[in-house]
Amino acid sequence: MIELVDALRLVEEAATPLPPRRERLLDACGRRLAEAVRADSDSPAWDRAMMDGFAVSHADFEAAGDRAVELTVVVDLAAGATSEVAVRPGTAARIMTGAAIPPGGEAIVPIERAVDGTAAAAAGSRVRLHEPSFRPGQHIARRGTAFAAGEAVLPAGSMLTAAEIGLAAEAGATHVVAAPRVRVAILSTGSELVDAAAVPSHGQTRNTNGPMVAAAVSLLGGEAIPLGIAADRPETIRAAIAQGLAADVLVLSGGVSAGDFDLVPGILQACGVQQVFHKVRLKPGKPVWFGRLDREGAQPTLVFGLPGNPASTLVCFELFVRPAIGILAGQPAASWHLPRRKAVLTGRCKGAAGRPVFLPCRLTEASGDRELRAEPLRWTGSSDLRGLAGASGLMAVPAGASFDAGDTIEVLVRTLPSVG
Ligand code: AMP
Ligand code: MG
Repeated sequence: MIELVDALRLVEEAATPLPPRRERLLDACGRRLAEAVRADSDSPAWDRAMMDGFAVSHADFEAAGDRAVELTVVVDLAAGATSEVAVRPGTAARIMTGAAIPPGGEAIVPIERAVDGTAAAAAGSRVRLHEPSFRPGQHIARRGTAFAAGEAVLPAGSMLTAAEIGLAAEAGATHVVAAPRVRVAILSTGSELVDAAAVPSHGQTRNTNGPMVAAAVSLLGGEAIPLGIAADRPETIRAAIAQGLAADVLVLSGGVSAGDFDLVPGILQACGVQQVFHKVRLKPGKPVWFGRLDREGAQPTLVFGLPGNPASTLVCFELFVRPAIGILAGQPAASWHLPRRKAVLTGRCKGAAGRPVFLPCRLTEASGDRELRAEPLRWTGSSDLRGLAGASGLMAVPAGASFDAGDTIEVLVRTLPSVG
C-alpha cells in the first residue's frame, strides 16, 4: 500500500502528452491548438458596408457642414451584389450592410440620415442626406482590417471555444492541428451486473459505473469508448481487456479487491500490463490498481483498475484518472487536478484511522464573500451514489482527524458553487 501523494506522482510520471492530431475544425472544439491557424485570405476580402445607407464621396460632405446634401442614386446594392458603377461627387450608391463598396465609395451615410422620406430612392432618383457629424471613411470595413492573408489569427495554444471556431472558419481553416481527444475505454466487471435498461432480478446490480465513468470522461473532453459489462470469468475479462488496450486509457471497475473473483490485476498482468501500484492509503478507493502497457510505435496505454463500489470508482476517477487524461490531452499542469480550496464547515465531519478520507459536501459561496462554505452531505459509504449526487466538493479529511462546524477544512472543488 502506498501513500496518495506517491500514487499521484506515479500517475503523473507515467502519463505524457499524446502527439497532436490534424482534424476537422468542429471535431477540435474544446481543445487547444497545437499549431497556429493562418488566414488563407484577407478579411474582409473587399471593402464592406457596415450600415444600410448610401456610399458617397468625401467631397460632398466635407464642405456641407449642417446642410443636407442632394445626390443622384446611381446603383442599388444588396449584400452579395457587386457593381462596377462608380460613385462620383454628386452621386451615391444605395447599399445594404455586408455589400461590397462600389468604386469611388469613400464613406457610408446611414439610411436614417435621409430626409423627406427619400431613403427608399431607387437608382436614377435623387436623395437628400443630412449628416452633420460626417467622418471620412465612416461605416466602411476596409479590406484586410480584421486580418491579412498569411497572418496567424489564432496562435498555438489557443483554446478552441465558439468564438475561436468562428474565427478559424473566417480564416478558411477547415482542419486544424490540435491536442487530440483522449480515447478512454471503459469496462465494468462483475457477474452480478446488468445493464441499466434491465430491471435487476434477485442478486443483480445495475451497472452504474459504466455510464458514470463515460460521463466523467466526456466532461473532461475525452472520447468515452464503452465496452459494457464483463462477467467475472477470466476468458470474458481477458477478451474485453484486449479490446480496451487499444485505447489511450483503459478504465476498469470492480474486481481489484481481495475477494475470490477479483481477477482483474492478474489478468491485466497476463495481458502484459505492467503494474505501477496496487492499493493506496485512501478512503474510499483503497484497492485501486494502476499500470501501463508499453506498445511499439504508440504511447503506452494507461490502465486504471478502480474499485467497484460506485463512490470509490468516482473518487478514484477524480483523483487518478482525471490528471492522466489532462496530461495526455496536453493541458497545462494547473488544470490536471481538482482545485483545492479552504472552506468553512457548516456541520461536523469525521475522518478514519490510518487513511485520509474524501467525503461529499455541497459548496456554497455567500454573495460578495469569497469564502467557501462546505455542507457535509448525508452519505452512508462507498456504495452510496445518491449521497454523491449534488456533491460539488469533496472534503479532504486527514487520517484520524475530525472537524466541527466552523472549522476550516480543505476541499476538492468538483463544480464551482453558484453564488447565493
Ligand atoms: P468489487 O470491487 O468488484 O468487489 O465490487 C464492489 C461492489 O461494487 C459490489 O457490491 C459490486 O456489486 C459493486 N459494483 C461493482 N461494479 C459495479 C458497477 N459497474 N456498477 C454498480 N455497482 C458495481
Ligand atoms: Mg466484483
